Amino acid sequence: MRLPFLAVRTRSADETISLGSRIGSLLRPGEVVLLVGDLGTGKTTFVQGVASGLGIATRPRSPTFTMVHTYDGGTYPLVHVDLYRLDTSNEVLNLGLEELFEPPAVAVVEWGEKATPIVGDHYLELDFAWASGDADASSEASDDVRNIRFLPVGRWRSRMGELSDAVRAWAGTEVS
Ligand code: ADP
Ligand code: MG
Repeated sequence: MRLPFLAVRTRSADETISLGSRIGSLLRPGEVVLLVGDLGTGKTTFVQGVASGLGIATRPRSPTFTMVHTYDGGTYPLVHVDLYRLDTSNEVLNLGLEELFEPPAVAVVEWGEKATPIVGDHYLELDFAWASGDADASSEASDDVRNIRFLPVGRWRSRMGELSDAVRAWAGTEVS
C-alpha cells in the first residue's frame, strides 16, 4: 500500500535545485529515487540539485541518446537514468540497470514509473506536476510553480519523518 505522506511546492528552478540538493545529501549507498512527471515539470532540474548535494561538480543534463550517465567525484557516485525513450516498461529488463543501482552508487531515474519492474521493494518516488491546475494555485500566477509529492515505498516509509524535517522549507501544500 502506498500513501502520499508529504507534498512540497517549489516556485522556481532554483528552489527545485535546492530541494534536490537537500535530498541528495540524505541519500545512502544503493538507494534509488524514481522521478515521475510530464516533460518540463523539473525532473532533470531536481537531479542537478541531487548532484550538487552529493558534492558533484558536473551539472547533469538531459541525456539524449544515452539513457544512463554516472557522475563521480561526490560523496557517492550518482547514476542518472532517463527512460523517456523507452516504449514499454518491459524493455527496462534488458538494460542491466540493476547492477548500476548497487552500493556505493545512488540512483535517480527520470520516467521512473518505467523502472518499477527492476527497482525492488524499497524506493522513494517523487511525483512532479505543474501547480497551475490547482484551485489554490491561482493566486500564484506563475508557470514556475511545481507540486512535488513524496511517495515512500518499503524501507523509505520509516524515513518520512526525517524527510519531512528536511524539506520543511519547501512545504507548500498539505498532504493529499
Ligand atoms: P523534465 O526533466 O521534467 O522534463 P526539466 O528539469 O528538464 O524538466 O525542465 C524544467 C524546466 O522548467 C526548466 O527549463 C526550468 O528552468 C523550468 N522551471 C521553472 N520553474 C521550475 C520549478 N519550480 N522547478 C523546476 N523547473 C522549473
Ligand atoms: Mg528530464
